[in-house]
Amino acid sequence: MNRAAWWLGLLWLVWTGCGPGRDGEDGRLRVVCTTGMITDLATRVGGGQIVCQGLMGPGVDPHLYKATAGDVERLSRADLVLYNGLHLEARLAEVFAHLPGARSAALGERLPGAAPLLGPDGHAPDPHIWFDVSLWSLVARRIGEELAAADPARAAGYRARAAALGDSLLALHVEIQARVAQLPPDRRLLVTAHDAFQYFGRAYGFEVRGLQGISTAAEAGARDVQALATLLVERRVPAIFVESSVPRRTLEAVLEAARARGAHVRLGGELFSDALGDGGTPEDTYAGMVRHNVDTILGALEEQP
Ligand SMILES: [Zn+2]
Repeated sequence: MNRAAWWLGLLWLVWTGCGPGRDGEDGRLRVVCTTGMITDLATRVGGGQIVCQGLMGPGVDPHLYKATAGDVERLSRADLVLYNGLHLEARLAEVFAHLPGARSAALGERLPGAAPLLGPDGHAPDPHIWFDVSLWSLVARRIGEELAAADPARAAGYRARAAALGDSLLALHVEIQARVAQLPPDRRLLVTAHDAFQYFGRAYGFEVRGLQGISTAAEAGARDVQALATLLVERRVPAIFVESSVPRRTLEAVLEAARARGAHVRLGGELFSDALGDGGTPEDTYAGMVRHNVDTILGALEEQP
């Protein structure tokens, strides 16, 4: 079957209701989310009133993620698709563009009162908005509005849970600000595998350097490794951090290059940047992953070099 016929077939399924529409099962809204951070919020706002599926599990890099045949089927059967946008899920853009029927929402785009940061090239938007917890609280509220629009009969419940979740995330935001305030300003330099933490830096007062850019699609070169090693030596940085969804080898090269030049720098631990932790661990929720990161960063940078 050629491509056009395939899409037509899918459209027919949706129109005729042979595809499992909302009325086909128990009347609950079918929601498909991309990253774990979105899936966690949508599950909480849905409160058992939706069937929520996430495409990207622990350790999965959303910059590089390609849709499987199963994903295309799940997306085409969804009532609502929730994704980050700002080019995070770069390789799913074509699939999103061809979704027949389903509503979809790029949650990170057009947030009220919050222009996205730009990457180092000054043009591409930085998609990692979830690391400013106050911005992610706006996303929680937006999910409530999206669910309410797709399923008006249950709108009041979605909005109430979204408001409560938004409030709890704002409280977490204030808690992080208070904890970071204990760290001397000259220690607030965060060096990681890729530039996922610019929003974290802006919200909580850290200077942030990533070995790779805002996407992991471009590899770091030997010059990038040496430049970062120089920074570690000159600023006497005590620790740098690997990320759960990015291979560690290039960051380990930075560590070796800095140590070869006499720096006392160590791996401060693993941060969860673009994916949640394994199921059953504290880091498999958004709030848990943020707390883990803050504990790991402050624990390593508080030590005297
Ligand atoms: Zn990233």
